[in-house]
Amino acid sequence: MTTMETGSYGSYTSVARILLTFNNPKLLLLEQPSSNLAYLRPLHAHMIRTHLIEDTFTVSRLIAFCTDPGHSPTLLHYARRVFSQIQNPNTFIYNAMIRAYSASDNPQQSIHLYNQLQCRCLRPDNLTFPFLLKSSTHFASLEMGMQINGQIIRYGFESDVYVQNSLVHMYAASGDLQTAERIFYRISHLDIVSWTSMIGGYNRCGDVRSARQLFDRMPQRNVVTWSIMIRGYARNGHFDQAVNLFRVMKAENVRANETVMVSVISSCAHLGALEQGRRAHDYVVKNNLAVNLILGTALVDMYARCGDSRKAIEVFEQLTERDVLCWTTVIAGLAMHGHAEMSLEYFTRMVETGVMPRDVTFTAVLSACSHGGLVERGFKLFESMREDYKIEPRLEHYGCMVDLLGRAGKLDEAERFIHQLPLKPNAPIWGALLGACRIHRNVEIGERVGKILIELEPGHSGYYVLLSNVYARANRWDQVTELRQNMKDRGVKKSPGYSLIEVDGIVHRFIMGDGSHPEIEQIRAMWEEIALRIRAVGYMGNKSDVLFDIDEEEKESALYQHSEKLAIAFGMMRTGNQTVIRIVKNLRVCDDCHTATKFISKVFDRELIVRDRNRFHHFRQGECSCLDYW
Ligand code: ZN
Ligand code: ZN
Repeated sequence: MTTMETGSYGSYTSVARILLTFNNPKLLLLEQPSSNLAYLRPLHAHMIRTHLIEDTFTVSRLIAFCTDPGHSPTLLHYARRVFSQIQNPNTFIYNAMIRAYSASDNPQQSIHLYNQLQCRCLRPDNLTFPFLLKSSTHFASLEMGMQINGQIIRYGFESDVYVQNSLVHMYAASGDLQTAERIFYRISHLDIVSWTSMIGGYNRCGDVRSARQLFDRMPQRNVVTWSIMIRGYARNGHFDQAVNLFRVMKAENVRANETVMVSVISSCAHLGALEQGRRAHDYVVKNNLAVNLILGTALVDMYARCGDSRKAIEVFEQLTERDVLCWTTVIAGLAMHGHAEMSLEYFTRMVETGVMPRDVTFTAVLSACSHGGLVERGFKLFESMREDYKIEPRLEHYGCMVDLLGRAGKLDEAERFIHQLPLKPNAPIWGALLGACRIHRNVEIGERVGKILIELEPGHSGYYVLLSNVYARANRWDQVTELRQNMKDRGVKKSPGYSLIEVDGIVHRFIMGDGSHPEIEQIRAMWEEIALRIRAVGYMGNKSDVLFDIDEEEKESALYQHSEKLAIAFGMMRTGNQTVIRIVKNLRVCDDCHTATKFISKVFDRELIVRDRNRFHHFRQGECSCLDYW
């Protein structure tokens, strides 16, 4: 006997058993009929023939069965047909239908059914409202939720614990945290859903502190709660907190799921915390978590952004499924590292496998061309984007093109290109040109562009700094001073530069001029030692950046105040000679730090990898992978 025959034989007996119980509704309750319509239809027909359909209890069991959340939507349509034949449906039957629709693609039907229930002069009960609230949450309609709240008060269910918990969820999910909070603190028996809803609500609005306070007070936590808290940290930029909480989660022996791991791994990517990223990857492997598309893409992104492009490729090649975003991640990762040719190879491979590139994919390939100085290829791709793929360029794409021309020293062409844009150029586009003017020491265009930028974004300190660097490189000190005064008068504050370095799985943050690190004295002494060694082979502090960055009286100590220098000194202090020093910086690397790092890589025979706001710099034997263009 084949398996199939066994299967149908098994089903046949279950139908037979159902048929036997037809005349005994109590038995029907105990039976679990097959969810296949082919078996339900004769059952239904039999109920009509024998008038069992008029028995409210029996028919309610059939409806409850068909609308079970575990069953397919086909059964819901069937339930609706059965429902329409019932002469006097009761509240139980309505609840079953309302519940089913609240979870369906058609949640408005549950509101419709509720209105019908009222027309029939039936009384809703404490189960009716949670389902209705779920529908309004599904719609993300606070107004509808408030109307349901009105109904709850009308029928006197406002102190029902089950209803209250549902109200908390509805208000928190709809963004009315104040009302959610008010109800939350009135509930005598909070369920895990309420706690989780409140925590999720606080995160969603960025209040991670309140979320964490509540999280710590929770009597019981499940993986969903952990996931919401960790994701909340990650989404609101508290990446180190996300990683720390994952550590606590592991210590409490709660098994993480894929969602948690995506948050943890992408937090490691932001922090540039390779060691912790690797540990998270190990956890995924050891716990047999499914490396699905999202988790796989997060891993590729993490390795690329933590400076290990080889591992990023290895993970990418092992993925069984790849969509356009996954391909784009690997292409962008290679571009950031300056591996332009390889990045373009992956692009070609992606197209060959039949995956259509999207606008973000072109941002990635164009930036690969720009980082690699491939002007012609870049222009070809730009044309192909419009002609072959019918993708209208957005400002980011134009920005890449300006960057591309600028890097190649074609500054006039870049300026003309901006003036001819069909869209109004934004600050980053002008910024790309100003950056190029700094590198190519073109004060004439730089001054023009700098003024446009300051007018566009008068509060953005970065553009003042960039323009002052253009002046400083041309020894135009008067203008530097004037610009600095101008910035002071307008009350523009420099955004504090910081650098991150991970040592023994812990991320240390250094802020420019900040002496709060417990080992700051040793770190400064270390920098002195480093500076001595590199000065001996020709390093001179570059005054142009220093001048603008700090106050006069601090000028003396300024050279070792820059956050990446402190981070490098700390890395040299705490790691072995063979260890690659990896640093993540929130701003562009300044000229002086760039030069100093090149010297360090040679004098100490160390590999240093710095990720700044724009790209990666791999320092090896006195050279940087950016070829001094960034
Ligand atoms: Zn610096
Ligand atoms: Zn560099």
